[in-house]
Amino acid sequence: MTINVTIWNEFRHEKSNPAVTELYPNGIHQAIGEGITGDVSVRYAVLDDAEHGLTEEVLNSTDVLLWWGHMAHGDVQDHIVERVYNRVLQGMGLIVLHSGHFSKIFKKLMGTSCDLKWREAGEKERLWVVNPGHPIAQGIGEYIELAQEEMYGEHFDIPQPDELVFTSWFEGGEVFRSGCCYTRGSGKIFYFRPGHETYPTYYNTEVRKVISNAIQWAKPVGREYPSYGHVPVALEPIKGNK
Ligand code: ZN
Repeated sequence: MTINVTIWNEFRHEKSNPAVTELYPNGIHQAIGEGITGDVSVRYAVLDDAEHGLTEEVLNSTDVLLWWGHMAHGDVQDHIVERVYNRVLQGMGLIVLHSGHFSKIFKKLMGTSCDLKWREAGEKERLWVVNPGHPIAQGIGEYIELAQEEMYGEHFDIPQPDELVFTSWFEGGEVFRSGCCYTRGSGKIFYFRPGHETYPTYYNTEVRKVISNAIQWAKPVGREYPSYGHVPVALEPIKGNK
């Protein structure tokens, strides 16, 4: 069955930094979208669209939402964040990329500061597969090597991931939990670290493979949303204590 994917991008660096414009002329979102394989239907939404492109209609017909943001997390309206949050709880998958670690939606879902160490020095990153049986690592070798990336280092203030798929090593010596799986309500969440805007990370074949795998993993499983609250009628007769 076709998976409906919406790729959300802040789309600001591409308009203000010539180096990023050159690397991602149609936006980071398009480069990510062009790399997705499998039976998927891809739509795009950006910050400056009405309702940030995340209307009720769009979200209700989205199976997996991808999120790239960095310089304008504060411009994302709270009621839209609430809308995305509720859809995740109802089963929509969410893949949070790179600097999306500081987005309102990720911090709300994690409940922690999501803070980390960082350095922009164009250093080498090696993402080691630490969970080789995990579907998100399918088709990936022992590690993915990126010649140049921004460094994110521990401690990363996130809740303990349900499953950890990648751990990064950086040339400068730091390490980082780079591929983290969570569930919240009925929804699955995958945080994937690489993807700084000044490096060609989203053209990397293995990075693209991981994103495609993550979409398959995060898609809704197709259950009814559980019912909550008062249950006045019992399934079985209750004798009780009389
Ligand atoms: Zn970055």
